[in-house]
Amino acid sequence: MEIRLSGIVEESIVDGKGIRFVVFTQGCPHNCKGCHNPQTHDFKGGYMEDTDKLFEMFQEDPILKGITFSGGEPFMQPKPLTELAKKVHSVRKDVTCYSGFTFEEILNSENEDRVELLKNIDVLIDGKFILEQRNLELSFRGSENQRVIDVKKSLSENKIILVEDIDY
Ligand code: SF4
Repeated sequence: MEIRLSGIVEESIVDGKGIRFVVFTQGCPHNCKGCHNPQTHDFKGGYMEDTDKLFEMFQEDPILKGITFSGGEPFMQPKPLTELAKKVHSVRKDVTCYSGFTFEEILNSENEDRVELLKNIDVLIDGKFILEQRNLELSFRGSENQRVIDVKKSLSENKIILVEDIDY
């Protein structure tokens, strides 16, 4: 399935736990003040890629712990990312996703495709980047409002459960 990207990083240690393949989607509606990636905002920018090709690239590297979806706003392209997340889980690797939407906004959006993507993610790092709450000491996130959420536990217990891990 086609997806609009701003870029990929084949091995990253700054976009979630472990060594990760990172897919940066193109297009973001949030306009956070102080955004580090303004070139990813334009929904007509970037380039088109195929999710099968991304999965092939992912599989070529056995040391990867998982994949990360970043942006841009991944939840603006939920269908191709859901497909990719399912493939990554089929080879027993994990899926982390960043979003400027909060967990609750996604769950209550009544957008079935977004909810389906949420269900196929292990760790969600949520919320807009808020310049006034920026903290350079946080691992894997930019501002203190952002949470590192254990999605499966949160969905099953019907409340937010944060990832309990020192690395986050
Ligand atoms: S959600 Fe991310 S990419 Fe979008 S404006 Fe905010 S910081 Fe930038």
